[in-house]
Amino acid sequence: MNKKNYSNPIKLINYYKLINHNLIYNNDAINRYKKDNFEISADKAENLEKLKKTIINIKNCGLKSNATNMVFSDGNPKSKIMFIGEAPGSNEDQEGLPFVGRAGALLDKMLASINLDRKKVYISNIINYRPPDNRRPKDEEIKRYLPFITKHIEIINPKILVLLGSTAMNALIGSDVVISKMRGKWIEKKFGNCKTSVIITFHPAFLMRQPAQKKMAWIDLKMIRDKKI
Ligand code: URA
Repeated sequence: MNKKNYSNPIKLINYYKLINHNLIYNNDAINRYKKDNFEISADKAENLEKLKKTIINIKNCGLKSNATNMVFSDGNPKSKIMFIGEAPGSNEDQEGLPFVGRAGALLDKMLASINLDRKKVYISNIINYRPPDNRRPKDEEIKRYLPFITKHIEIINPKILVLLGSTAMNALIGSDVVISKMRGKWIEKKFGNCKTSVIITFHPAFLMRQPAQKKMAWIDLKMIRDKKI
């Protein structure tokens, strides 16, 4: 018999690593469907899939015909906190995921500052296809995509909804409001059957252009961190 000597502690640790003893001696049931703890109800998964298909099948949309990918969402669909930005940029269009470019890197830092990350929140945009040359979405484009993001909010059913920047704010709160007056306040709002607490803060791309405003964004982030949900 090939008798190994595991009296040496280093060898013993390596041996345990090799046989993955955490798994072998763990009494927890193995859940094949548990990936990143993102498992959601069949209903929620079906509704998200249905919404995704509706957006993919949109007809006669100039944004869609110019885009590479539809950008639906990132993060944890079980999260109680949903972030909504404006529209995909070039990196997002290439990868099919929201906030993966420079603004996304700042968003990740903003999340980290209050102990959050993409596994703990859910992220989407008002518009699902990149506007050419990263221009602001036009009013008629926002109007066309508004039912999708409203449905998206209803499906995710977050307790906290964070609107990043004035496009998201004007689309979902009203066109007659300005971000300097609206940011940093809790607003109770209903989207379909979803009752949620909305907070508006500056868009990370704006903060990159106006770093002096980061101190205001920090106030808003602390409000999110401290909100009892
Ligand atoms: N800006 C946004 O508003 N959304 C993205 O996904 C990327 C940049």
